[in-house]
Amino acid sequence: MKLGKEILRRLQETLEFRENEFVSLVANKSGNPFEVLVATIISQNTNDRNTIKAMNRLKTLLGRVDPEKIEELPLKKLEEILKPAGLYRQKAKVIKEAASFLKEGKLNRILRIENLEEARKELMSLPGVGPKTADVVLSLTSSKPTIAVDRHIARISLRLGLVKNDNYNDIRNALISLFCSEDYLKAHLLLIKLGRTYCRPKNPKCDKCPLRDLCEYARKSGRAGKSK
Ligand code: SF4
Repeated sequence: MKLGKEILRRLQETLEFRENEFVSLVANKSGNPFEVLVATIISQNTNDRNTIKAMNRLKTLLGRVDPEKIEELPLKKLEEILKPAGLYRQKAKVIKEAASFLKEGKLNRILRIENLEEARKELMSLPGVGPKTADVVLSLTSSKPTIAVDRHIARISLRLGLVKNDNYNDIRNALISLFCSEDYLKAHLLLIKLGRTYCRPKNPKCDKCPLRDLCEYARKSGRAGKSK
């Protein structure tokens, strides 16, 4: 846990982020878990800017994004609205299916399940909902002690040497052990910001990274100077 606290301290000192950079935080402002789920599905394979654009189009049309309204919306119309986020046919189909499954408060009932793994399992039984989407929804809307792993977090975990492979559960477990449960959401957001700012897929900017003296990749590639 000590290392986790130190990592967070350095990231907090170095990185600045605004809530509106993260589609999950923007969607969560509505206080509507279904909106967080829809936003997370839309965000698959695209960036937050495109996702926010598609979400804004959906909200302008529907007002509140709830399963009943999505069910009434013709599939073609939903596809057209989701176009800015790419893969819009696939995403529209998945969102329609999720809406028909989650009508009449079913999502809130899942979020109230006390056991974290049971709640995850229920969410992951929905079409198009994998572990990342389930963890995003649970960590934001139910305060359950889980941490979602996106592509930035997976890359950073591998480079830091926290894990030896990019298996989702291995990374999630490593992060759950590294950080205190009250810090999971903060760690998730700060690691994404680190991935967007310094630890990019190509040519990571290790010379500017606050974690470089803790990083296996930087050490092996001779880029591990002293961090602050
Ligand atoms: S030191 Fe380089 S590789 Fe390691 S986490 Fe920082 S940017 Fe990524």
